Amino acid sequence: MSSESKETNINVVVRVRPRNQKEIRENSPIVISTSGVKGKDLHVKANPSDPQSKTYSFDKVFGPDADQQMVYDEVVAPILEEVLMGYNCTIFAYGQTGTGKTHTMEGDLTSCAGKDAGIIPRTLYRLFDKLEKEDSEYSVRVSFLEIYNEELRDLLSPDDPTVPSVKLKIFEDMNRRGSNEVQGMEKILVNSAQDVITILQKGSNKRQTAATKMNEASSRSHCIFTITVHIKETTSDGEDLLKVGKLNLVDLAGSENVGRSGAEKGRAKEAGMINQSLLTLGRVINALVEKGLHIPYRESKLTRLLQDSLGGKTKTCIVAAVSPAKCNLEESLSTLDYAHRAKNI
Ligand code: ADP
Ligand code: MG
Repeated sequence: MSSESKETNINVVVRVRPRNQKEIRENSPIVISTSGVKGKDLHVKANPSDPQSKTYSFDKVFGPDADQQMVYDEVVAPILEEVLMGYNCTIFAYGQTGTGKTHTMEGDLTSCAGKDAGIIPRTLYRLFDKLEKEDSEYSVRVSFLEIYNEELRDLLSPDDPTVPSVKLKIFEDMNRRGSNEVQGMEKILVNSAQDVITILQKGSNKRQTAATKMNEASSRSHCIFTITVHIKETTSDGEDLLKVGKLNLVDLAGSENVGRSGAEKGRAKEAGMINQSLLTLGRVINALVEKGLHIPYRESKLTRLLQDSLGGKTKTCIVAAVSPAKCNLEESLSTLDYAHRAKNI
């Protein structure tokens, strides 16, 4: 963590996936390279034969050979410590569809710590491992929401996901300003990482099924998995201390409709694809980085939901996912621009 990003509490890392079958079949050359599995720099060429490349620097850069464990250790482990101290934190996966957002966030959900298990299962595994070793009382609750077209869907509710049942509503908790609650949302008390894995698989399937049945691309929805931890500690002078920390793990909608500067609203709107939450998130992050007076949290569902976990005494990490291949270069550059703006100013 550089001192500069520590001030803003926003870390930006990039993960470059390996070329996929299609890119290899089409002979699309590698134009984005990294300095090994893990570094800080990313090199971009417009053409593989160019002698010069442009270098971008981030808090961390993971190459195609970086595995899930490495991403967890470098990105998530320090954030989990903050959550256990009672802070609210958020990790976003940002990028074009097909670049590895869901792989990074969920990965293989059949085991908590297998080779391909992503951030969510690994975090739960580590969380329970840590909590079980302490002798404090604790409780862990999880919720799993999807935002599609500025509407909320509870991925953990027992009903049929294709039937728009109870409309979930966001309301402000009057006792805690800036802390918004979702009326009617399931917050499930869980006792082990394995418990959560079962719940998660259901939620993740529900997202898939709903997307297919309603002919919606799941690439246009955001998924927010939230872990809330309550820890009761007794201080040396015998007083009870309650620490409440929250971790939001967010698999964002594909960034392909946002456009290069985040400003190509016209085109996206025409195609009926404007993603209010993704655009607003960019503005909120920029306002936080610029230390603006007005942070436009209220302009989208996503940012309202995350209001108490973005800015102030919180830690945020954006994992920007990109393809290394030339055929996706334009989208990759747009992702790198977005990521860089979140960090640099
Ligand atoms: P997104 O959620 O961004 O649309 P996915 O996570 O679904 O993308 O990834 C698309 C495909 O690429 C999946 O089959 C996934 O397993 C694979 N993939 C993504 N990132 C990696 C990676 N770092 N290493 C290996 N395979 C990856
Ligand atoms: Mg995905």
